[in-house]
Amino acid sequence: MKNHCSFCKKASEIVSMMVTGPEGRICDQCVTQAAQIIQLQKEDNIINDIKPVNLLRPKEIKAYLDEYVIGQEEAKKALSIAVYNHYKRLAHPASIEDDVIIEKSNILLVGETGTGKTYLVRTLAQMLEVPFCIIDATVLTEAGYVGEDVESIISRLLHAANYEVTAAERGIVYVDEIDKIARKGDNPSITRDVSGEGVQQSLLKLLEGSIVNAPPHGGRKHPDQKLTAVNTEKILFICGGAFDGITRTISNRINFNTIGFEFCAKPNARVDDKDMLKYVSASDIKGYGLIPELVGRLPVIKGLEPLTKSDLRSILTEPKNALVKQYTKLFAIDGITLTFTEETLDLIAEQAISLKLGARGLRSICESIMGEVMYTAPSLKGQDKLVIDKSYALEQLSRTRLELLRPVEKNSQDGVLKKMA
Ligand code: ADP
Repeated sequence: MKNHCSFCKKASEIVSMMVTGPEGRICDQCVTQAAQIIQLQKEDNIINDIKPVNLLRPKEIKAYLDEYVIGQEEAKKALSIAVYNHYKRLAHPASIEDDVIIEKSNILLVGETGTGKTYLVRTLAQMLEVPFCIIDATVLTEAGYVGEDVESIISRLLHAANYEVTAAERGIVYVDEIDKIARKGDNPSITRDVSGEGVQQSLLKLLEGSIVNAPPHGGRKHPDQKLTAVNTEKILFICGGAFDGITRTISNRINFNTIGFEFCAKPNARVDDKDMLKYVSASDIKGYGLIPELVGRLPVIKGLEPLTKSDLRSILTEPKNALVKQYTKLFAIDGITLTFTEETLDLIAEQAISLKLGARGLRSICESIMGEVMYTAPSLKGQDKLVIDKSYALEQLSRTRLELLRPVEKNSQDGVLKKMA
C-alpha cells in the first residue's frame, strides 16, 4: 500500500494528486471532501454557537426595566412577555410536523412624546445584548423620492451587529413615529403614493418576514453593489408613535359603548381622559390610518400613560442613570459634592410639565440650570460643596427661553416661565 491514499486507499496512478506526509498520504479527492466536511461543521457551529440571548423570565425582565423606567407598568409588562415569548420561539424553531406554530409578537407602543417609548426599547435591547437600531419612519415616507428605502433599516441593523448576518437576524428594530406614515383621509389613492401607504406596504413585508437584500453599508442600492441577504423572520419589530388626537377616537368608542350598554346604570364607568390610551385598540389604530395588514402584524398594542409631575420628579432621581445622579457624578470627579434641594427638584418637574415634552424636557431644563456652574465650579479653588437651590435655579432659568422648546401645536397659555422672566 506504498502509493495509496491512507484514507480511501486509491492508488496514486488513478488520482490527480497525492499529498505525502511523514506518516501517510492523502489524495486530492479526500482533501476536497475533508474541506467540505470542515465547512459544514463550521456553519453548524456558527448556528449553534451564536451567543445565547441573555434571556430572563418576564418578571425578571420587568424588574430590570423597573430599574431604569419610571411608571408605564402595563407597557413594561407587555414588553417583558413579548420579548420572552419571542426569544423562546427562536430557541424552539417549529418543525414541519408541528401543528402549533408560535407567531411573532411585534409590538406597537402608543404614547405622547417623551413618555419613554424609545427608552423602554433601548433598555430592553441593552439587557438582551442583541443588535438594536432605531429608525425614524418619517425618513422612510419619502422613499422612492429622496428619502431612505426600507432596506436601509436592515443595513442599520447589520451595522449594529458588526455585519454578522446571523446576529442581525435575531435583533430588535424600533420604528419610531410610525403614526407619521399613516394614510391621510379615508380614500386610499390608487394612483401615486403620497400618503405613506407604500411605505406601510414595504414595512409590512419586513414585519411579515422576508429575505431583504440590503446594501451592507447603507445608502442607496446601485447596480454593482454587493448586497447582503437578511431574513427578517426572526427580527423583533417594535413600533412607536404619539398618534396625536387618537384619544378622541378612543374616547368616542369607549364612551359610546358605555353609554349604549352600561353608562346609564354605572355613571362612574366613564373613562377619564388621561387614562384613555390604556384602552387603545387595533381598530383605533386602523382608524388613524395604518393599513389593517400592518396593524395585524402588530398584535401587541400598548398605550403609555402621560407622565405626571410626581413621575417626572422620580425620573430625576430614581432610575439607575438618573439625571441628578449623572450631574452628581460629574461634579464628584472634580471633588465637589453636589446637591439639589427638594424645592429645586419640584421646580424642574413643574417646568417639564409646562414644556409638554414629557421627560425629554428634563434634560434641557437641567442643562439651563447647570450650565453656568458646570462652567465655573471646576476652576474655583476650595469649593467642595455646591447646593442648587430654587432661587438659583429660577435665576438661571430666567436667562433661557425654554418656552421656545414647547411643541407648536400644544402652545399653552400658562405663564410659569413668563412669570419667572
Ligand atoms: P419617546 O416616548 O418620545 O420615545 P424617549 O423614550 O425618547 O421618549 O424619552 C426621552 C428621554 O426621557 C429618555 O432618554 C429617558 O432619559 C427619559 N424618560 C422618558 N420616559 C421615561 C420614564 N418613564 N422613566 C425614566 N426615564 C424616562
